[in-house]
Amino acid sequence: MTLDVHTLFLVTIYVEAILGLLLLFVWAQNTALHAVCWWGFAHLIRLASIALFGMYGEVPDLISIDLANALLFTAFAVTWTGARVFDGRPVEPVYLVTGAVLWLLICRLPILTDDINLRSLIASAIISGYTWLTAFEFWRGRGEPLVSRWPAIIMFFAHGALFLLRTPMVALLPGSASDAVFGSVWMTVLSFEALLLTISGAFILLAMAKERTELRHRTAAMVDPLTGISNRRAFLQDASVLAKRHIGNPRPIAVLVIDLDHFKSINDRFGHAVGDRVLAIFADAARKSMRGSDLVGRLGGEEFAAILTETSREKAIEVAERIRETFAQLARDVDGHPVCATVSIGLVHCQERTLDIPDLLTQADHALYCAKERGRNRVEIATPDMLERREQGTPSTTSIAAIAAKSAA
Ligand code: GH3
Ligand code: MG
Ligand code: MG
Repeated sequence: MTLDVHTLFLVTIYVEAILGLLLLFVWAQNTALHAVCWWGFAHLIRLASIALFGMYGEVPDLISIDLANALLFTAFAVTWTGARVFDGRPVEPVYLVTGAVLWLLICRLPILTDDINLRSLIASAIISGYTWLTAFEFWRGRGEPLVSRWPAIIMFFAHGALFLLRTPMVALLPGSASDAVFGSVWMTVLSFEALLLTISGAFILLAMAKERTELRHRTAAMVDPLTGISNRRAFLQDASVLAKRHIGNPRPIAVLVIDLDHFKSINDRFGHAVGDRVLAIFADAARKSMRGSDLVGRLGGEEFAAILTETSREKAIEVAERIRETFAQLARDVDGHPVCATVSIGLVHCQERTLDIPDLLTQADHALYCAKERGRNRVEIATPDMLERREQGTPSTTSIAAIAAKSAA
């Protein structure tokens, strides 16, 4: 079976139109996705370029070759710009048109006018350049955990390499000279490859935009916006995953329940905005004092909890003290106010084979109660007698009581 290159051109034009409009439609539904708008226009520009290529022989070469190529390079440059915009980088107007301008200028050089292979090599180099730049932009943003980023990087990189290789391959094969541009097998193969790239490229870019949107929604549902750490739901979910993993590989852990001291008074004296800053400072101090593998979350109000994994009792006390001291230091002066905020911490260490997170949180909460009773700004370690003393004292009104009640229900 042979594929007629004209038919392929026509199919590609339709496909470019459909994909361009599809991407613009997705952008219209969520105009915050600026990159998708750039990618949509890239398809429409490529459509115009292919339409001009299709007029080869019917219109001057200046239009069907030079201008068509200039548009094609701009389409690849627009895709690259979309990749920059996707990761929050600025548009580079000069580099956006560099390929096209360079091409239109060097086309005027006499040495290039009759050498189709050299022209083809330069054209391929420009396309490869933009395609590799696109792959590079996606690679630079790899810190964001998007699975679809990797196929995009591989695809754009591979496509750039293929484009650069095509000219030597064409030159090596007999019968692909300038007089048979539309008749050559290679033209068919390359047109087919370009068609496949355009389809797979559009879908991979759409997948990235969709995955980014979902990730942001998920993050918004799991992260406390004020402090940037896990909210209560995420913390409890992560803790329950940890508890399940613990069964297969039991290691000593420590659970901390932390409450800011006299926080109501901080709000009253310095205002709610300063109170909010103090909460953010605490989250910062906690993160600085713990390892990345430990868990920390805001349970509600000015109450936080942390789980220190694979930690001895001594190490856990050391970390708790470090959190307390770091916070006291960072919250001494807040935006010019002598806030001098402190925290009380209740700690429970566990070496059991199974982890009962609500129970451990309750024990740490009893220790926290003792820390408050014994003057605040201190760390207390849970002991069995704390429960009895707590039962005789005021009942717990903290978030922990709610968590324990829910787990018991
Ligand atoms: P204690 O030392 O016994 O813990 O006293 P406290 O004042 O810290 O505890 P209390 O439970 O009486 O007060 C907690 C205060 O935290 C009351 C509430 O207005 C404030 N609060 C809760 N959430 C926020 C918040 O998001 N921002 C600010 N600024 N304040 C909050
Ligand atoms: Mg408090
Ligand atoms: Mg409290």
